[in-house]
Amino acid sequence: MNLPERFGSKVFNDSVQKETLPNEVYKALRATIETGKPLDTSIAGSVASAMKKWAVSQGATHYTHWFQPLTGLTAEKHDSFIEPEGDKVIMRLTGKSLIVGESDASSFPSGGSRVTYMARGYTAWDPTSPAFVKDGTLYIPTVFVSYTGETLDKKAPLLRSMNAIDKQAKRILKLFGIDCKKVFTTVGPEQEYFLIDEEEYSRRKDLRLTGRTLFGAPVARGQELEDHYFGSLKPRIAAFMRELDEELWSYGIPSKTKHNEVAPAQHEMAPVFDTSNVAVDANMLTMELMRTVAKRHNLVCLLHEKPFEGINGSGKHNNWSMSTDTGLNLLNPGNSPESNTLFKLVLAAVVKAVDDYQGILRGSVASAANDHRLGADEAPPAIISVYLGDQLGALVDSIVKGENYVSGKQPECSIGVPESPIFPKDATDRNRTSPFAFTGNKFEFRMLGSQANVSDANICLNTIVADAFEQLADELECSKDFKKDVDKVIARELKAHYRIIFNHDGYGPEWETEAAKRGLLNHKNTADAVPVFYEQRNVDVFVKQGVFTAAEAVARADIRLENYTKIINIEARTMLEMAKRDIIPAVSDFIGALCQNFTAKKSVAVLPSTTEYELIKKLSALNDKTSAAVEKLEKDLAKTDKTDFRKASQHMAHVVIPDMDEVRKYADEMEKLTSSDYWPFPTYFELLYNV
Ligand code: ADP
Ligand code: MG
Repeated sequence: MNLPERFGSKVFNDSVQKETLPNEVYKALRATIETGKPLDTSIAGSVASAMKKWAVSQGATHYTHWFQPLTGLTAEKHDSFIEPEGDKVIMRLTGKSLIVGESDASSFPSGGSRVTYMARGYTAWDPTSPAFVKDGTLYIPTVFVSYTGETLDKKAPLLRSMNAIDKQAKRILKLFGIDCKKVFTTVGPEQEYFLIDEEEYSRRKDLRLTGRTLFGAPVARGQELEDHYFGSLKPRIAAFMRELDEELWSYGIPSKTKHNEVAPAQHEMAPVFDTSNVAVDANMLTMELMRTVAKRHNLVCLLHEKPFEGINGSGKHNNWSMSTDTGLNLLNPGNSPESNTLFKLVLAAVVKAVDDYQGILRGSVASAANDHRLGADEAPPAIISVYLGDQLGALVDSIVKGENYVSGKQPECSIGVPESPIFPKDATDRNRTSPFAFTGNKFEFRMLGSQANVSDANICLNTIVADAFEQLADELECSKDFKKDVDKVIARELKAHYRIIFNHDGYGPEWETEAAKRGLLNHKNTADAVPVFYEQRNVDVFVKQGVFTAAEAVARADIRLENYTKIINIEARTMLEMAKRDIIPAVSDFIGALCQNFTAKKSVAVLPSTTEYELIKKLSALNDKTSAAVEKLEKDLAKTDKTDFRKASQHMAHVVIPDMDEVRKYADEMEKLTSSDYWPFPTYFELLYNV
């Protein structure tokens, strides 16, 4: 199959819908997808029947409602199409089975928002994200809610937050005389990942149980030569990427860019952006396909945010914007942003939202794994700020100071060789250190972790921006002199929230000091970042925008802290097991061998044996220190509060993690001194350089 034929061949997409649905049904369905018209449920039977027929022609025997529970993963339960008729079966998918599925909700996290004795949960069709066939099953994207209507997933609130933007952004557009049917939010997630050899992986308990290495001395060659980024692809990696692209394309996922990343064994894939909920579904599927395609190449794809210490971890830049159904990008400054009042107002609203609700944005990306990256000089700091770049920064400065803005000529770049073309430069340089950067016609939220479901961040971003839009629209709709007042509002908001704008290096201690002076939040870990979701004003914004009820908002924060606590608990237990059963005994064996050699040499009397003696001394001392650190970790871990996850998460962050660091410190020191014949599992060298 050539690429255009392959693209979307496993998807019940627009062209298949057009081909297989009666014209009236097709039109009704597209109206829901493209303009947000409420779904006409009477068409469900017809859509279901066409969908089934198409799926069966693709080899499907089953269908599943595919959803995204609060585990952060996807979930599916397969039903076959068969329906007995006499002694035969027919294949059927009814309209009802397409629209709604019933499932037991009691085994998914609900944070107490769904009382367990009421275990019924419903999955409901999301017609705006296309169904697809994978491994003989028709996948129907759905939302997941409880019997009493509380959301139990990440998609329902995402859709609600997109609706909030739609509603409020249309009010803003109306002020400028722009009418449109729908405003969509758009997302392009850049996915980073590691690939390592399956054989080495299988011998590391920590990677298998926790997704990251809990031990490992640094390898002699890390990323200091800066030669891996954009480096040429090794044949095995290139073969993986080729096959991944083909898979992604067949599911209609527009994989666009692939390259090696900064750390050894690290890579990236970026698709072309799409409507937020479609992009989220595609990203969830992408992560799954990365894992399965890797397996076929005897590789393992690590999506953890920090698989290896000492080299960069993985993130997921979330490129975000808003567009009308008529194709107007609200964050497009055009050629002269200074006279683009709509753009300036939208920019002011985003800046206001990010400043007013820094805590929400920071909290939205908090996880046990992502804590290792943020603020570690390889990813944005844990402090939220907005980067605008030179041109836009100068425009905002002039507005805030009330000065006239003189737009510069678009800068050009010349290579200095007559044969090479002179080309226009981008208005903004890249600033990799900023958590929230304007990049031409979109914002790039860079704090997201690589394995995260990007719904969390987008739910929060959409909600707070919708709220800023609402406040500004409330005010400006009452204005008697819109032209004058809108400029005043823009200047006032940019001035009020100027502290959140930071156009310089976000790494390093200077910014931390400066940010503290500006009164910006700096939540260094999940245990400290998540509790912002309990604050009344933060709960209120979700409630006001119709994204969460107060109970849902609090339940979600509870789940995050519970999840954080459980992850650290699993890591600590894995560490204890590896230290006690693998590392300490291995080092002891090696010491035993050294002792034998030492005594053997001594018995020959004249032979010098300082090397053995010194090693025995050093390793014995380190092994004792490891044992003591292990004991302390074990004791402290047992003290974790079993019922109150807010308390437990604090204990994990401030007691258990420092204990774990201590165990690792001694164990890694021993790794450097222990014969590789004795070391019980593959080292960083083998893990990072064996592909
Ligand atoms: P950069 O190289 O500056 O990061 P790219 O053009 O490579 O920018 O785009 C990075 C990601 O941003 C891609 O996934 C791209 O599709 C996405 N993107 C581009 N425009 C938008 C938009 N309007 N909304 C959301 N994402 C976008
Ligand atoms: Mg980018």
